[in-house]
Amino acid sequence: MNNNTKPNRPPNYNGPRRPQKPKKSLLYYYTIVMVCVLLFNVFLAPMINDAKSMVQATTYDTFLDMVEQGQVHVVEITTDTIYFTPAESAVDNLENPNVQVYTTGNMNDPNLVSTLTEANVSFGRVADPKPSPLATFFSNWIMPMLFFMIIGRLMGSFMTKHMAKNGGGMGGMMGGMGKSNAKVYEACSTGKTFKDVAGQDEAKEALTEIVDFLNNPGRYKEIGAKMPKGALLVGPPGTGKTLLAKAVAGEAGVPFFSISGSEFVEMFVGMGAARVRDLFDQAEKKAPCIIFIDEIDTIGKKRDSGHGFGGNDEREQTLNQLLTEMDGFDVGKGIVVLAATNRPETLDKALLRPGRFDRRIPVELPDLKGREAILKVHANTVKYDPQIDFDAIARATAGASGAELANIVNEAALRAVRDHRDKVSQADLEESVGTVIAGYQRKNAVISSRERNIIAYHEIGHALVAAKNKNTAPVHKITIIPRTSGALGYTMQVEEGEKVLMSKEEAFEKIMTFTGGRAAEELVFKSITSGASNDIEQATKIARAMITRFGMSETFDMVALETVSGQYLGGDASLACSPETAAQIDREVIAMVKDAHQKALTILKDNEAKLHELAEYLLEKETITGDEFMQILKAPSKYAVLSGTSDTADTADV
Ligand code: ADP
Ligand code: MG
Ligand code: ZN
Repeated sequence: MNNNTKPNRPPNYNGPRRPQKPKKSLLYYYTIVMVCVLLFNVFLAPMINDAKSMVQATTYDTFLDMVEQGQVHVVEITTDTIYFTPAESAVDNLENPNVQVYTTGNMNDPNLVSTLTEANVSFGRVADPKPSPLATFFSNWIMPMLFFMIIGRLMGSFMTKHMAKNGGGMGGMMGGMGKSNAKVYEACSTGKTFKDVAGQDEAKEALTEIVDFLNNPGRYKEIGAKMPKGALLVGPPGTGKTLLAKAVAGEAGVPFFSISGSEFVEMFVGMGAARVRDLFDQAEKKAPCIIFIDEIDTIGKKRDSGHGFGGNDEREQTLNQLLTEMDGFDVGKGIVVLAATNRPETLDKALLRPGRFDRRIPVELPDLKGREAILKVHANTVKYDPQIDFDAIARATAGASGAELANIVNEAALRAVRDHRDKVSQADLEESVGTVIAGYQRKNAVISSRERNIIAYHEIGHALVAAKNKNTAPVHKITIIPRTSGALGYTMQVEEGEKVLMSKEEAFEKIMTFTGGRAAEELVFKSITSGASNDIEQATKIARAMITRFGMSETFDMVALETVSGQYLGGDASLACSPETAAQIDREVIAMVKDAHQKALTILKDNEAKLHELAEYLLEKETITGDEFMQILKAPSKYAVLSGTSDTADTADV
């Protein structure tokens, strides 16, 4: 609707500063290079050409053969090389450049002299040929210098471009190699403010305090309150950490120096530490100001982790320099260092000590209200139907990050454009939820009617098991339109409210729901397909977590059997128990999944009539809503209970 109007800069904003550096650099160096190339061509090249053009290398064997056959006329021997002219050449003078000269290695053959004497060849030892002083000068001094200058320039300009690109406008500039003080970090305007960051109220509050301190350091001094030197934004990827830092820059009205940890990693040996030093030097001159180090984990990893050797040293030097600089500067001057990471647990403890990054600002995945706000912020950059129910979309996207929500809005807008509509509709958004979560819709995929039939029963199997359990999220949508991600259909469940805890019953019923698809295939087709592979993975994951991490098994009670690293990156679990226990865990996982599978099968057997009815309806419509699903499920059955299944119908006790 209303397109984003860029916020005006605060009046006291210092503005991007560009250093007054004389602009001689590139042209100046290129002139020198051109002159050198010219000199090379005039003096050295002809010498090399003359000396080389008529010389041909041969093997020592060939040489001996030629001597024995009387084809060799004159031989000159140096320490390493034997030069000789063939007999047919009329001139016996090696100095004449037009004679074909052969060379071969001097093998220090003791019989050589007798061989040559026998063959009646005139020979002699000569001093090693001395290259002219000019040539020596060129090859030993000028050429290496030229080489390094050219390489230096190439890399320098490459890195300048690279950093400008990566920094999203906050690029640095770099002079020639070794001139570390020529690098400049630009304080710059990002055009973002806190209004662009939806939700994340606590993080914004913490950052506002820092901004306020930078704007009025005097007030803090009066009371004697000390601001932290550094604050660390921690949270999963895509939650808006970088965005928040940019917004701080926009809000602060003070210079903002930004660099990403990965930029340090791309540097040459010794450059990382130099850059850190420069960064702080520059900042000190412009204080009060903010330094932002994005992805600090790339340089801030624990130093003792011993990942082989080589590149580590460089990273450690950079990290040590960072620690030194952070200890060195005076907070009173008004420098605050912000950093962001999604792997806080890998950071070196030294970084988190008081006086360094001692304040932690969590930037978590958005909750229901946060998701709605983020959807709205991004929807405001596109035209949308005012009827859109953002709350419904927010509820369908539990667990999605801000970046994913932004992507959902964008996908919806793309879909509206594709369909030649002028507004984004609710259906566009719902469709793009599926797109972002389950991959693209694959309309033209050819799926045989038998397979569609199986897929329909599979999806209804999931939905029916979910609907018949008490602790599962309601079914929101079922579709058998395939996605490019490979999913052939999916059943979308939406929690009614925000969920932070998962009970044992809920966890188990989730496993049952995942096994429901396969159970329906078994029941109806008496055969099974590969279509359940993702379900199997998910079910196993939950079962394993229940036993090893949530203390939800009788056998192991509240014993932690797994340690989880990378909590913000999906959590890589690694077993922390004996091999015997590991084997027992496996048996428990198997038993739990089997139990859930059997119970799901029982539910479907009990409701087989509805299973058929719903699957038929889904086959016809391809996509059905949760409401349609529930209506059919609650309505009196169209079909009589099929023969052969009625006997089990009463025995179930789920
Ligand atoms: P992170 O640095 O935490 O990985 P980013 O700051 O790069 O995440 O976020 C990526 C994108 O996601 C942002 O550019 C923005 O479009 C969107 N986004 C993330 N969180 C939010 C939020 N709270 N409000 C609005 N947009 C957000
Ligand atoms: Mg980021
Ligand atoms: Zn499935």
